[in-house]
This record gives sequence, structure tokens and C-alpha cells, in this order.
Amino acid sequence: MEISKGISVSPGIAIAEALVLDAEDYRIPTRYVPAEEVPHEIELLDRAISASLVELKEKRDRLAKNYGNDTAAIFDFHAGVLQDPKLKKDLEELLVEKLCSAAYAVSRTFLALQRRFNNMRDPVFAQRVRDIQDIEKRLLRHLLGEEREDLEHLTKSVILVAHDLPPSLCAGLDKTKVVGVATDVGGLTSHTAIVLRSLGIPAVIGLSDFTRNVSGGELVVVDGRRSLAIANPDLDSIRRYESEIQRLGVFTVELEELKSLPAETLDGQAIQLLGNIEFPHEAQGCLDQGAEGIGLFRTEYLFIGSPTPPDENEQYEAYKTAIKIMGDRTVTIRTMDLGADKYLKTSDWEPERNPFLGLRSIRYCLRNLDMFKVQLRAILRSSVHGNIRIMFPLIINLMELRQAKMALYDAMEDLEEMGVEFKRDIPVGIMVETPAAVILCKEFVREADFISIGTNDLIQYTLAVDRSNEKVAPLFTASHPAVIRLIKQVISTAAKADIDCGLCGEIAGEPLYTLLLLGLGLQQFSMPAVDIPEVKQIIRSTRMPHARKVAREALRFETDRQVHNYLRDETRKLLPPEAV
Ligand code: PEP
Ligand code: MG
Repeated sequence: MEISKGISVSPGIAIAEALVLDAEDYRIPTRYVPAEEVPHEIELLDRAISASLVELKEKRDRLAKNYGNDTAAIFDFHAGVLQDPKLKKDLEELLVEKLCSAAYAVSRTFLALQRRFNNMRDPVFAQRVRDIQDIEKRLLRHLLGEEREDLEHLTKSVILVAHDLPPSLCAGLDKTKVVGVATDVGGLTSHTAIVLRSLGIPAVIGLSDFTRNVSGGELVVVDGRRSLAIANPDLDSIRRYESEIQRLGVFTVELEELKSLPAETLDGQAIQLLGNIEFPHEAQGCLDQGAEGIGLFRTEYLFIGSPTPPDENEQYEAYKTAIKIMGDRTVTIRTMDLGADKYLKTSDWEPERNPFLGLRSIRYCLRNLDMFKVQLRAILRSSVHGNIRIMFPLIINLMELRQAKMALYDAMEDLEEMGVEFKRDIPVGIMVETPAAVILCKEFVREADFISIGTNDLIQYTLAVDRSNEKVAPLFTASHPAVIRLIKQVISTAAKADIDCGLCGEIAGEPLYTLLLLGLGLQQFSMPAVDIPEVKQIIRSTRMPHARKVAREALRFETDRQVHNYLRDETRKLLPPEAV
């Protein structure tokens, strides 16, 4: 039994056989082979390398004939890597000394290679990571055959184990079959984590070397409550976890009964609980959990999963679908927040040295105005089907807000000229996601109709902690006194200006922060659908004077540990022990 500690992104517990993925979606079936099979594995490996080299030469010659030697040189790099004696030595060592299968040895060795290239400062080398992945895929194809793992048509329940999973792959998972996820890398608010949470799949990420401990088909436990993943659990642990799963089931049923009850404190303060969605059909899940609207529609997910960006009509249909599901409830459509860890699949997307500080979000849109206006026209056209709000992400100065609005007015003019119907009086708001936006909040509230605090980014930019890097995950916390003071400042500024202020970062759905946020005066919480019942339970169990007292106390502490422990103790008083 191997126990690994990681970061829990989705709270449940799951026990099932592992499906180990590597090199995108290749299934790596076994890790070890009997000693007598090692020569056969070496032979398979040699054959796969030779076949890959033949393929690469053909490709190279074809490309050189049509486009010249310079363009074809990329395949020389691929062939060079495959012919490198060090690579051969590393692979054979794994096979002989660790009795690994050839496919497993390839996936381990190329993972190490990718890490080496990733860590190179020179961006030219960093870009080579994609080539390394390409070479690995080619080798694995020769070793494992053409067939990829088809995650949409699994026949039994599995726990997906991978080094990393892109958000686009997570979004397509069938949660009736993929009952848990464990990955080596990732942070609490990485977009992969956000999608897994939305789907409600128990998941622990940032487990460092978990893939090294598991073979396909072995039993795995994902314990989202204690942030653990266990490979090959012993009988005792299996029994313990099975009975815990049963107890949790009872608690979930109790929560379900809350769905139709109002989110209101004991002394009658009504709170709006809204849903966060990445895809239009998720709006139904929000309604089912009792959401009063959509506080965040992350529209960039319509873009990152497909090889070409959706056109105006496809986008319009997507927005309309969500709006129609929500009826007359508000749907807050955030314009595409591309960049950082959410890339378009088009070939001209350039890797950046510091992507979270780079051309992301509204900056990307203002640089790609044509694409931005296509989205704005699609949103405007969808407005006739219900009640929408438009929200711009990562605004750091007034110019950006004004330019984004100009683009919106241009889109309105385009539609007017074409005689297409849309609503004119759509509220336009911004996300407050940087210390700069907090400091300028007084100015922003004069020009924005509403604001929403994006704590995932606000924490990252305030504390200088990459939200998707497991190595600094313990530093990423909303309990940091600087973060809670910033949140307080935004809520008070919005209240004074009498405009709507929501919070749509992950902490809106974390019971640990419910009392604090209530006490700071937050009246609009937007979160993944799965989190709504538990947050509602806390709201319905407290009174406003108590929540204010909790907030006042929390603001007095000097360290995040103190804040965290205090909030944990206060929350425990309101929830049954199996919940916190
Ligand atoms: C945030 O930053 O808190 C937020 C809600 O936006 P995203 O997680 O999509 O960056
Ligand atoms: Mg954000």
C-alpha cells in the first residue's frame, strides 16, 4: 500500500481500479513484467524505435521536397532524440533493473525528459516540450498500437491516474464511469481542478509521483476529504473507506433536502447562491442544486476544447442554451478568459515565459479585437432569450474597461446595421482579480454596473503564488490576512456605491469561508453546483450578528494559520463532523 498526500479539489471518496494515462490519452497498462520477459520487451522497444525512425525519415524527405531543408529540420531533432545513446541506456536500465514494461519505461523516461526541457530557462528549449511529447506518442503508438483510450465509452468504473490532465480532457469525462481522479501535478484553483470540481468527481491532484506507484488495473483509493491517494490499499483500509462512503451518502441525502429551501440566515438575511459553469448544459446541474442564477459562465471552455474557435452562431447557440435553461434567472456571461493555462488549440498560439503575467484574459481580447467582437455579437444576440449580464475578466485599469465597452458598443452597432435584435440595457461588470483592481475599486464602481471578486486570481497575484503549482500550494490560501482585508475592501466599496458585488472564486463554495464572507457583507456567492447545498446549510444555521463577529475576529489575526484554524473551529460548530 502506497499513500500519497496531495491537494484535494473535490471532496468525495472513491475506490476503483486505476486507469493510468500518459502522453495525452494513451493507457499505460502495466508497470512490471517477469524477468524472463525483459528480452522480449527490449526487442519490442528496439522495433518501436526503428519503426519510428523510418516514419520520421519518410516525413522529413516529403517535407524537404515540398518546403526545403529548414522546415524539415524539426524531424532531424525528433530522430536525434530517438538515436541518442543516453536515451537508449536510460530505457534499458529501467527495463533490466526495474523489470518495467517497454511502454512504462517510455512513459517514465519521456516524463523526465519533458521535465528537463520544461525547466530550461531558454524559451526555445521550453517549446521543445511539445516535440518531446510528440516523440513519446509516436513510440507509444508503435508499442501499444493505434488505439487510444476512449474515455467516453468506458465499460466499468475507473479512477483516472495521470501525470497531468488538460482542462479540455476533464470536461469530457463521463462521471458515471470515471469515479475518481489522481494526478501528479496541479494546484487547487488550476482550471483542471475547477472542471473536476464542477463535475463533482472526487479528485486529488498535485500528488508528485503518484503515477510512479500505480499500474493500470491496480486498486486505488482517492480520498478527497484528507487529500490522499492510496495505491493498492490493504483490506483494512478498503473496509474503512467503504463504511465512510456509506456514511457520506447519508449526509448527501440530508443536504439534498435543502435544495428547495431558501438561502436565508436564521434572522432572515437572504443570500443569493449562484452557479459557476464552464459549458452551457451545466446550467441544469446548477438549477437542480437550487442555484438562483449563473454568477460565472467561463466561456473560454467553448474555445479550448476545439481545434478551431467556435463561430458566432455556434457561440450564440451555446449562450442561448444556458440562458433558456435558467429561464428568467440571471446568467452572467464572462467574456473569454484565454491565456495562462487555457490555450487555444491553434498552431499560432505562442508559449510565454510567464503566462499568468502575460497576454491573457481581457488583454488577449483587446489584442484580438475581431475575435472579441464575434463573441460580443454572439452574447448580445443571445440576450433576447433571458436576463444576462456581461462580465470582463482581469481588468487592471480603467482604460481596459473603457476599451472593452467600446468593443461592446461596436458589436451593438454591427448588429443594428444588420437589423439583428438584442437588448441594449445589459449590465456590464468586471472581475476584481488583482490588488490593482482592489485599490482602484472606487473608480471602477463608477463605470461598472456590478463587480465580482475572482479570488482564485486575487490570491495568486496578491501572494505571488502560482495557483496551479503544487510546489507552492501550501502558500496559496484565502486565509492570508492580506487577502481577507482586500476582500473586505471590495465588498465595502461596492456597498457604498450601491452596486452588486459577488464572489465567484473557489472559496465561495468552501464551507470554511462561508461565515467569514457573510460577516464581511457578501450577499452573492457563485460556486460550482456541487457546493451549493453545504454552503446553504451553513447560511441557514447562523445569524448575521454571529457571522459579523466571526469576520471581526478573523480580521484581527496576524497569520493565515490562525485565521484558518479559527474559521475551521467556527464552521465545525455548524456542520456534522463528517462534513468538515
Ligand atoms: C477567479 O480568478 O477567481 C475566477 C473565478 O476566474 P478563473 O478561476 O476562471 O480564473
Ligand atoms: Mg480568474
